[in-house]
Parts: sequence; structure tokens; C-alpha cells
Amino acid sequence: MAIRLLAPATINRIAAGEVIERPAAAVKELVENALDAGARRIAVGIERGGIARIEVKDDGCGIPEAELELAITRHATSKLTDEALVRIATLGFRGEALPSIGAAARLTLTSRPRGQDSAARIIVAGGAVGAVMPVAGPAGTSAIVEDLFYATPARRKFLRSVAAESSACADVVRHLALAAAEVAFRLDIDGTTSFDLPAQDRQARIAALYGRGDAQAMIALDAVREDVTLSGFISPASLTRASARHQHMMVNARPVRDPLLRMALRVAYREIIPAGRHPLAALWLEIPPESLDVNVHPAKSELRFAAPEAIRSLVIGAIQRHLATPAALGAAPSLRLEPARHRGGFFYPVAPSPQARGFAEAEATLGFALPPTLRRIEPEPAVAEFPLGSPIAQVFDTYVLAQAADGTLVLVDQHAAHERLTELRLRAEREAHGVVSQGLLSPIPVDLVADDVGRLLDAAGSLAQLGLVIEGFGPGAVLIRAIPAALGDADPVALVRDIADTLAEQGSAVGLTTRLDALLIRLACHRSIRAGRRLGLDEMAALLRAMETTPLAQTCPHGRPTVLKLTRSDLERMFGRAG
Ligand code: ADP
Ligand code: MG
Repeated sequence: MAIRLLAPATINRIAAGEVIERPAAAVKELVENALDAGARRIAVGIERGGIARIEVKDDGCGIPEAELELAITRHATSKLTDEALVRIATLGFRGEALPSIGAAARLTLTSRPRGQDSAARIIVAGGAVGAVMPVAGPAGTSAIVEDLFYATPARRKFLRSVAAESSACADVVRHLALAAAEVAFRLDIDGTTSFDLPAQDRQARIAALYGRGDAQAMIALDAVREDVTLSGFISPASLTRASARHQHMMVNARPVRDPLLRMALRVAYREIIPAGRHPLAALWLEIPPESLDVNVHPAKSELRFAAPEAIRSLVIGAIQRHLATPAALGAAPSLRLEPARHRGGFFYPVAPSPQARGFAEAEATLGFALPPTLRRIEPEPAVAEFPLGSPIAQVFDTYVLAQAADGTLVLVDQHAAHERLTELRLRAEREAHGVVSQGLLSPIPVDLVADDVGRLLDAAGSLAQLGLVIEGFGPGAVLIRAIPAALGDADPVALVRDIADTLAEQGSAVGLTTRLDALLIRLACHRSIRAGRRLGLDEMAALLRAMETTPLAQTCPHGRPTVLKLTRSDLERMFGRAG
């Protein structure tokens, strides 16, 4: 076969595979173009997951009629002024998005530059470019994408459910709306308005997108190191979600999903929030353009930092410092040990007072204060019928330390154990007679974005089977009427927000059984005892007794242990005493 140059339409189709991975990527490119055009107002409409139709309208600078055809030509851009790719001040610079979209779908681009009195339109469908036509239209640009991937059927096959694609589109718009709070943003999904926000400051935008209550609980953060600044808002350790979809990072105003920044966030919270939980964060990093390469990936959402270690430590350090402030302290669990007074004090308690906090930070990696004197513990008289023994102390506010009749040291992960017990109880209830639900004295409203409301109401039947009774409460809220009785004093609002996250991640393709299962596990993890809650000795003993009568409770649903045992010979081996 002879080597030949590919036709431009084929080249664009190949590029489309990288640039427009899924509908959300097309939404991102179009909104970025609107922002680059200096729009003050942007309206986005999504239909059927963005596969049927995406429309992005802006009141930006517009495209002159004579340039419309260039706009949809590959590698044609009005933005790149620094051809060395260092000083990139715009979100776009590759001149690839419009031609890629036009190669994979039917793109209708209509624009009227500021100060002109007529608009013009060009249509490109599956790479075939039509003629430029004069039309009537408002100042600014509208891009309509229809039937995405009809011209690239290979890609169309790999799309997820409409609900999952819709939710990905909404996440992208939310991220961009957060990055550009000074721009009015509206999002409609299948004819329902998700949000319609005026130009705002960052804090008001966060309140609009994360919910007022959560936004109020968040901690303002500011840090500078040399020529890099970090600012934004993070949640205290007491405010976490079931997924990381409420973490938004902006680097030089560009919304990114950079692995380094996500990892830094995870590390910063690792010791203070339970496994599987995620903090909320909206963080803006400003860094000199020469210390940054944004040309790593065609979708421009990953970056390369010239000094990744410095960025990582700035982010981790700043978050940890701000979590240790009095504002965060009220909520964040500090490092404490429950003194076992009946035994004469095995460990000294570290008081959770603000003064002690500084001390606790020093001790953070160790996890507990070393006692000035260690007393000897005499084993309790043997109580053979209690194989998990009697509780001695609580470590990290997370693990229950007990000693069994034969001297074996027992460690229980209180959160995992309690979650498993609750899950087994909910399951047994469901099989026997349906989950027992507990009506709330007064129904509680929860503010949510409209797409979350839609998903929750679609699942209301399944949720009712699990004891969680909700109903619609206007376009941006649901009302909680009852929660599963087994969840005791769980916070109903946090519970519903987590269920919304779980539904957003699942999409609608998931079968009913799998879905009920996932929701049940999610509910179970809301039982009152979380990692980080201080337990009394009686509560610890009750937990151990409940576990003994529920053999399945000794592993979590994923097969990880909830109990560890160290026998005398284990200890001797570890201390090198064993012969
Ligand atoms: P890039 O954004 O990388 O330049 P695109 O293919 O996304 O590449 O867009 C090509 C060009 O079309 C842009 O450089 C810009 O001049 C013009 N353009 C696209 N969308 C808009 C818009 N909404 N408003 C004004 N100009 C636009
Ligand atoms: Mg662009």
C-alpha cells in the first residue's frame, strides 16, 4: 500500500476521537469558547445527555461573517499569540474543537459580532461544510450540536446511559460556572432549568452550586509561596460527600481535573476523614505561565507543573493548616484518646481544646500522645463467652482496643463494623417485611441542583423500599418525610445528598437489584457511629457484643476485615522474642 495523506474530513474525525470524548467534552469546548469571547452571559441547553442536542449561547465578541468558515477549519484560531505555547491566556488555543465537533455531528454556528447589525450562519455536518448564509440573530454566538457521533458510530457505541452523559455534562458546566463566577450562567437539561445564576462573587457562586448550608460550613483558604498563590474554600472534616464530584480545581482560571491536585487533596484529608468519603473543595491556583504546560492533553484538563513537588506540598500544607484553625476545629475531629478510667489510665487523654490542638498537630503522624507513664494492664477476669473481650480504649477516635479472655489484643474499626451491622440489619428487615422507616416530626427540605432532584425523584420508589421517603419540593429541592429507623440519629440531609451522588454516578443503566444494593450500603454508612466519633466504654462494649452475635459482621461487604486480633505469640514474634 502506498503512503497517502488522509483527507481533511478523516483527519478531523480522528482528532474528534481525542478532543470530543463524550458529550460533556463538546459542552466544555463550546462554553470555553464563549468564555474566551468575553461573554457576560452564557446559556447552555442539553438534551438526551447531549447526544441529541447541545446548545451554547453567549453574548461575547462574536465571529465576523468572513471568518465563520475559518472558525470550523482545523488549526485555525484567533487566540494563540505566543507560538512558543508559554503565555496562554485563553482557554482554547489549539483550533481543534469546532472542526472536531463538525466532523462527528451536525454543528450550526450562528454569530453576530458586537457592533454589527446582522448575523451569519454556517453548518457543518459529518465534516461536510455548507455555505455561509446571512440570518437574523442577536449579538454574540450560538453553537448548536445535533446528533453527536452520528458520523463516528464507533464512538457512539461507547457512550454510557443518557442519565450518566447528562450528569457528566452538568458537572462540566458547574465546574466552568464556578471558574467564572463573574459570568451569568444558565443550564437547562431536557427543558428543565438546573440553574440560572447572575454574575456573582466566588462565595455566592459556591453557595448556589454546592447548597447554602454546605457553603456556609466551608473554610476560606489563602496561601502564598513565592510566586504561586492558592485560594478558595474547603470543607471541614465533618462535611464530606460520597463522591469527589464536589471538588473543583482551577489553575490560572482554567478548570482542570488534574491528578496531582486531586491526590494532594486526598492526602491532606487522609487522616481526618473516613475511608471512602470525600471533602468538598473549590480551589484556585495561580502560577506563572512559564511554570506550567497546559498542552498535555487535547482536552486541556490535565497539566504539567515545572515543580510538581512544590505545588503538592503547598496544597497539602495550606489545607492542613486551615483545617487546624479554630473555625475548622469546632467540627473537625481532633486526636483524642478515651481514657480507660476504670483501669487507672492506660493512655493519657489529649484534651480536644484549641490550645491542645497545636500539640495534637505535632503528634499528628504518631496518632496519639505518648503517656508520661505507662501503667501495667491486668487482664480482666476471663469472660469466655465474650470472644471479642472487654474494651480498653479508643484509638484515633476510630479503633476500639479490647482484650479478650485469653489475653488476645482485639482491634475493631468502629465505623466499618457499625456500617456492616447496620447493612446486615437493613438487609434482614428488607427480606422479612420491608425496611422499617421512621417518620420525621417535621419534614426536612434539602436544596439540590435540579438534575439531582430529578434523579432522586425517579428513584423515589426504590428509596421508599429502603425506608427513605422523599417527595418533590419545587424545582431545586426535595422534602424528606421518613428515614430508615435503623439509621438512628443519622443526619437526613447528608444522607440524601449522598444518595444523590450515588445516583449521579450510577446512571440509569444499572439494574434495580444492583441499584438497591448500592443504595442500601450507602444508607448503612450513615449510621451514627462514624470514624472520628468518641465512644464511651459502654458503647464500645455494645458494639463488640453485637459483632459477636453477627458472624458476618467480622468482614465488610468488600471482604476487608472489621476486626484484627493480635495473640500473645503474634506480639512475641513482632518484638523478636519468639525463638
Ligand atoms: P480554539 O478555541 O482553540 O481557538 P475552536 O475550534 O474552539 O478553537 O474555535 C475556533 C475559533 O472560532 C476561535 O479561535 C474563535 O476565534 C472562534 N470562536 C469559536 N467560538 C466562538 C465564540 N463563542 N465566540 C467568538 N468566537 C468564537
Ligand atoms: Mg475552543
